[in-house]
Amino acid sequence: MIKRSLIAIIIFLSSCQERNDRRKVFDVHLHGAAVPGQQLDALTANDVHAIAISTSWPQQQAYQSGPQINVLHGLLLPCPGGRVPYSRQPCFEDGREWPSVAWVERQIKAGRIDFIGEVLTQYQGISMSDTLMYPFYALAVQYGLPVGIHTGSAGPDHGCPGFKEDMGNPALLKETLQRFPELKVWLMHGGGPYIKECIEIMKTHPGVYTDISVLNNPGIVPEKEFRTIMRSFIDAGLEDRLLFGSDNADISTSIEAVERLAFLSGKQKEKIFYLNAASFFKSK
Ligand SMILES: [Zn+2]
Repeated sequence: MIKRSLIAIIIFLSSCQERNDRRKVFDVHLHGAAVPGQQLDALTANDVHAIAISTSWPQQQAYQSGPQINVLHGLLLPCPGGRVPYSRQPCFEDGREWPSVAWVERQIKAGRIDFIGEVLTQYQGISMSDTLMYPFYALAVQYGLPVGIHTGSAGPDHGCPGFKEDMGNPALLKETLQRFPELKVWLMHGGGPYIKECIEIMKTHPGVYTDISVLNNPGIVPEKEFRTIMRSFIDAGLEDRLLFGSDNADISTSIEAVERLAFLSGKQKEKIFYLNAASFFKSK
């Protein structure tokens, strides 16, 4: 009897071990925290091996890769009113809304920018295809940098009076893609509530990815709705282009939300948690 329960315990422990060994998470949607070290510790404790971070310029440069975690640095722009939405610190030391194109190019050459994002045109009340963005998209193409664009709704208290929900419709990306067909883009938050439009543009443009941050936060999007949304992405054949993100929500809750999707196979979860992001950012 004792022997049998001992065997059961060993089997249980080894299956846990196996699961943790296998799971690797790439969080493509992160913003800064008051104590970066604490944030990184929580992430690595939850199997996060790589992150793509966008926050104010001075803060994000404080995040560095280490043996446990690979850090990709974004360039957040434009900066409505000169401040990062929600956290409200100045994006750039001189308080400007748009960095100069020449400055951005210098930072790219110095290896300080791995992707352009989070693109916040919507918080400025303009389209992601506004021509103001074109010089930055041109740099992204020239240097092979991915671009991450906020789409869909926003939470309360972002502090940006110009925010326009309809400027977050993923269909607005069409114009940009016509002009810059080689641009590597991911639409953030799955475009929610414009899920249909997000799926449509992903189907017509095989280079477009999306992250599932916020959608996987049960405090904002009910579990059942998240399940329906994920089903529609999978049914549309997009499992290779879904990226995991937490958008600073509790990391273990965000991961669990995906783990609980019983219709996903182990391989599909692996793709969403890590593999898709690894290939998306690889050719940077
Ligand atoms: Zn966002």
